[in-house]
Amino acid sequence: MPVSAESTVLSFEDARRVVEQHAAKISPPAAESVELLVSGGRVLAEDVFADRDIPPFPRSTRDGYAIRSDDLAKLPATLDVIGEIKAGETSDKILTNIDPGQTVSIMTGAAVPDGADAVVMVEYTTRHTDRVEITRSTTPGENIVPRGAEAKQGSRLLDRGTRLNEAAVALAASVGKSRLQVYARPRIAVLSTGDEIVDITATPAPTQIRNSNSYSLAVQILRAGGQPMLLPIARDEPQRLRALIEEGLRCDLLLMTGGVSMGRYDLVEQVLSELRAEFFFTGAKIQPGKPVVFGRCGADTLARDKASEKPTYFFGLPGNPVSTMVTFELLARPMIEATSGQLPRKLAFLHARLKSEIRVKPGLRRFLPAVLSGEFEQSEVELARWQGSGDIAATALANCYVVIPPDSERIPSGDWIAVMLR
Ligand code: AMP
Ligand code: MG
Repeated sequence: MPVSAESTVLSFEDARRVVEQHAAKISPPAAESVELLVSGGRVLAEDVFADRDIPPFPRSTRDGYAIRSDDLAKLPATLDVIGEIKAGETSDKILTNIDPGQTVSIMTGAAVPDGADAVVMVEYTTRHTDRVEITRSTTPGENIVPRGAEAKQGSRLLDRGTRLNEAAVALAASVGKSRLQVYARPRIAVLSTGDEIVDITATPAPTQIRNSNSYSLAVQILRAGGQPMLLPIARDEPQRLRALIEEGLRCDLLLMTGGVSMGRYDLVEQVLSELRAEFFFTGAKIQPGKPVVFGRCGADTLARDKASEKPTYFFGLPGNPVSTMVTFELLARPMIEATSGQLPRKLAFLHARLKSEIRVKPGLRRFLPAVLSGEFEQSEVELARWQGSGDIAATALANCYVVIPPDSERIPSGDWIAVMLR
């Protein structure tokens, strides 16, 4: 049964949970193979396993002397130096058994010989030709990473669905994966609506506004792992709007901006209802972005050339540019991430000290453009001075949003406050 667009306004947390529940049902896109060097930011479509123990030998973490810790019971101790082991040494010195009273000079990253159970840092030693005097005791295992301590051969190192960052790429490199299977970027349709909106190449009449939302969304979609597909601007006219929405629904996900408020020409919900859309919410108690809409259109309602017969999810994001950016980040992003095959991730905020008092009316959870400053552990945050959710200029100067809970009226300066980075 299609749910009508009768208003369902949820708290922010509930709206987010609804999105997360639907995101969890999304199946990942097709996979493709890419070179490791260009895999950063992509989403793994395979699990990555350890091809051997890591480290593959007991590894010295210091330059110094490999010793038997029993030999250092009495200090200073003088030991016979029977050799030297460099990192990468392939000679059978590695197999040398160190007998009591013996040691080898060893470098960081080299294989610790059998018999030795610790490495004494070179700083605590004095070398006399083929003998060395040691002035510090050690505990067994000190400065050695045992073979296989980081990972056993065959164990899973990276899960399918991981977004590849530098550490994940380093790990893949360390097990010899010169190519990786990653998911193809899903196609995310972007439809800006509004009679006053003109293309950025046009000369706007005095009361016309250039389309900036399609461009901010394209950046956010790319960052979230999708491929933005910009549709032409839709006039506030039902037939043309419907045709463009139908086109957008052929992509993997559709993001619309504008036309979801209560105005006479806010036609997006009306047209979606005609398409027998199912609405999961038609508003969230947030500022900016309250009129945000989330739903899906069944495959049966549309003539589709999509390979599968899956329904297509859509968001109607409010048209005010900052509302569009904020609602994408808070609510649309998990769907883009899921559509691109990523494992789910909870939204977490950081905290900073508030520089100057904030007073607001309670009732909505607010995400207000702000400037995070300070240095090292002394992070401070201050609201940007803005003219409301249409103010792109103030938002471009901001570098984060402060998160104000719905029950707050006054937050004094010096308080810790939640911050969402962007
Ligand atoms: P709406 O959500 O359609 O009521 O639009 C709210 C405000 O956002 C209006 O001032 C619009 O002019 C503005 N707006 C809507 N769409 C865009 C867009 N694509 N780019 C820039 N501003 C927009
Ligand atoms: Mg409009």
